[in-house]
Amino acid sequence: MNRLASASAQNLAKKLHDAGIREQAVLQAVANTPRELFLDNALAHKAYENTALPIGQGQTISQPYIVARMTELLLQHHPRKVLEIGTGSGYQAAILAQLVPELCTIERIKSLQIQARQRLKRLDLHNVSFKYGDGWQGWPNRGPFDAIMVTAAPESIPQPLLEQLADGGVLVIPVGDEIQELLRITRRGDRFEHQVIEGVRFVPLVSGGLA
Ligand code: SAM
Repeated sequence: MNRLASASAQNLAKKLHDAGIREQAVLQAVANTPRELFLDNALAHKAYENTALPIGQGQTISQPYIVARMTELLLQHHPRKVLEIGTGSGYQAAILAQLVPELCTIERIKSLQIQARQRLKRLDLHNVSFKYGDGWQGWPNRGPFDAIMVTAAPESIPQPLLEQLADGGVLVIPVGDEIQELLRITRRGDRFEHQVIEGVRFVPLVSGGLA
């Protein structure tokens, strides 16, 4: 992606730094990414607020702080091949695609997936494979993945995602119903180390059925 960072996006990156994001590459990706492109025109004036916003179909574009935080947690492991579950608007995918060599992303709502694909193409981000499907199952024939990021919350950790992690790989995932926690799970052979990061609020990861 080759574009001049807008003053608004740079200002958002500064706000995220003030909120505790320390990874420079992540802040630079936020500064480079026109978040208004991922929203309806009617909400474009809110694009650089540090807040989640509706994207239709009862879904949301995540809060920039949580996008940056999850990306920072994942980058600490220097992943090459990454799987994102919940493409949504495509904003998180656009951030990741600037930072890792290969990104695969899955969305269960067809209309969102089509829009996200068009947006990333418009930004000249071509290292992304899109799948319309149930992310609960992962993407077995593209795995194993060095890192998996889930941007919707299941009540329990989907077993297929654990199985598709490479040894040493990391799963960043919000888990829970009313009360949710962001977890980082690292695979060590057949063992999985769990680390609780912070409390979060995500839409549910739907199990089974496409829209
Ligand atoms: N990463 C998104 C972004 O940057 O806009 C955030 C999207 S939103 C918080 C979560 C997304 O997960 C929604 O688009 C929703 O349709 C999707 N989702 C929920 N359950 C899913 C599933 N089982 N498989 C794939 N996507 C799912």
